[in-house]
Amino acid sequence: MRGAHLRRRPPLPMPVQACIFIAGLALFATGIAIAAADAHPDDIDKRYSVADLKALIDAGALTTDPELEAYIRAEGDLPEKSGEDQNDETDDGDKITPIRPAARNRIKAKATIQPEAAMIVGGRTLRRNPLPHEVKASVDWDGMEQAWTTRQATLVDDWKTQVKTAHIDALVQAIEEAETLDQLASLDAPVIGEQLMSDAMFALAETAGAEAVAEAAAQGVDLDPFDTELVPDEIVTRASAQSIVMAGSISQAASQKAITIAGTGLAYEEVAARVREHLEGLSDSYLQDQLGGVLMQAQNSARRTVFDGAPEGGALYASELLDGVTCLPCKSVDGTEFESIEAATESYPSGGYWECLGGLRCRGTLVWVAPNETPASV
Ligand SMILES: [Zn+2]
Repeated sequence: MRGAHLRRRPPLPMPVQACIFIAGLALFATGIAIAAADAHPDDIDKRYSVADLKALIDAGALTTDPELEAYIRAEGDLPEKSGEDQNDETDDGDKITPIRPAARNRIKAKATIQPEAAMIVGGRTLRRNPLPHEVKASVDWDGMEQAWTTRQATLVDDWKTQVKTAHIDALVQAIEEAETLDQLASLDAPVIGEQLMSDAMFALAETAGAEAVAEAAAQGVDLDPFDTELVPDEIVTRASAQSIVMAGSISQAASQKAITIAGTGLAYEEVAARVREHLEGLSDSYLQDQLGGVLMQAQNSARRTVFDGAPEGGALYASELLDGVTCLPCKSVDGTEFESIEAATESYPSGGYWECLGGLRCRGTLVWVAPNETPASV
């Protein structure tokens, strides 16, 4: 057995090994160069250089470790090491002194650490598993994911049928009635959908607040049941402002399309028909982001409200566990412990992390860990 034979050879002193290793590399490189000189660059025959390495090994001038041996075997089209061979390393106390131990260890660490299977919620794989403090916090991640995604899907559907269609009808009518390009440029859909939005936000806040209370209970801390009355201002004002932004956004899309196609003298009725087609054909991604964002605010407002009423001595953390395409700012805030609820609110003022490059798409939230010893209740 070649491998066993190699392992019985007493290891050479380190400096000698290093020189030999470098010499071997040089020889290896020369082999590639020679092969490359008279071969097409794409089909360099590395077996030349592998043969050279083999000569070095057979002469006892070079020792191998598993990585090097695997490489030589692969490059030289040699058969894979048999299972018997692989196991005898542990039986055999006579181990090879690794070449450049630190570098080898690094390579080994890279090669052998398998990515751990990350947590799956709602059918998607998260980018990491919950951190120890997140486990301690007893967060029902799957429940949080389900609550937000189902609410978002319903709100988007309702918005399309109840609000977007009304927006489009109003805009199309305004185009038909317009007489100048300037009028087309300043279309103004009515601000509607506020109630629909705030209803959905309140409903999610209720779920999220109850869940936060349950998280505390699972940590042995009894809090008052969550009441959506505690967060109405935030939700109502956001729904109002958000409805204005969304009416403005679809109006601008309509104006933009209208002025680009009306310039050549098309009848405004025809312009109106084409604008309708354009608006109806817009993807849902804008609605998903905007409406998803307000729902994140509802969820996080409720959680923050609950944690604000929790006993002192607990810890509050940023969690970007549920975030999808996590940006750099979110990665860096992920897992941060905040000094106070005020500090947490500054970072998560109205939904996800304020510096998130994905804006409204951020799915970051706050996680509360109860103090180790809960003070006795009065
Ligand atoms: Zn982000």
